[in-house]
Amino acid sequence: MRNKLIAGNWKMHGSRVANEAWVRALQAEPILESVELAVLVPAPYLAQMQQLLGGSTCVWGGQDVSDQERGAFTGEVAASMLREFGCRYTVVGHSERRQRHGETDVQVAAKAQQALAQDLIPILCLGESLEQREAGKTAQVMRHQLGVLLDILGEGGMARSVLAYEPLWAIGTGRSATPAQVQEVHAWLRQQCAETSPGLAENIQILYGGSVKSSNAVELMTLPDVDGALVGGASLVAQEFLAIARAAAKASQRTE
Ligand code: PEP
Repeated sequence: MRNKLIAGNWKMHGSRVANEAWVRALQAEPILESVELAVLVPAPYLAQMQQLLGGSTCVWGGQDVSDQERGAFTGEVAASMLREFGCRYTVVGHSERRQRHGETDVQVAAKAQQALAQDLIPILCLGESLEQREAGKTAQVMRHQLGVLLDILGEGGMARSVLAYEPLWAIGTGRSATPAQVQEVHAWLRQQCAETSPGLAENIQILYGGSVKSSNAVELMTLPDVDGALVGGASLVAQEFLAIARAAAKASQRTE
């Protein structure tokens, strides 16, 4: 059975004081046995997370990683550096990076390779724009994005990764995809993975991301092909993040 993962992507938010308050709020709550929690923070806060979360059940990670191992790449963060600060995960190919920094599918795969080489788990983001969805091109776009990842990472690399379906039109808009839309795409992604390997399809975690909040989490987390959530805005408020995690825990118990 696949475990659920609730990963909070803080994007470019946080401060040392606010981060500490967030962690304390999390630590004041009972541990949720059936759900893994992760928080993906701006790189300057990784040391703080290592200090505050070390030994707790919530793991932490980066929001991006370089496609290079080391060298003259000003501003970039190497996978080995994320590793050194105790990261377990890193987001790769978030749409905000694809859009603002022109990251291509091949570059995204190269970043994932760097992460995997350091035993980090890449959270591989993919998703279609509103224009592409309305033009009926969702499957075509996803086939290409996933195809490049499967080709470059292979079954072995994909088996050590997490997929995150994040339709661009649902990110930060307050407009989540409907449960039916989410389940359709997640089932389709799993089916595509099955063409490479039925074992991969069975085991790969597929998260949904796009305006997940406590009010829609129960419905989304109970979908059969949804293995958790990548949560942006709502993850900044510890109580919201926890409420989403509790919804995922409840959903896991139902399917046990
Ligand atoms: C995200 O940043 O990955 C995301 C899903 O954002 P939000 O939850 O705010 O839509």
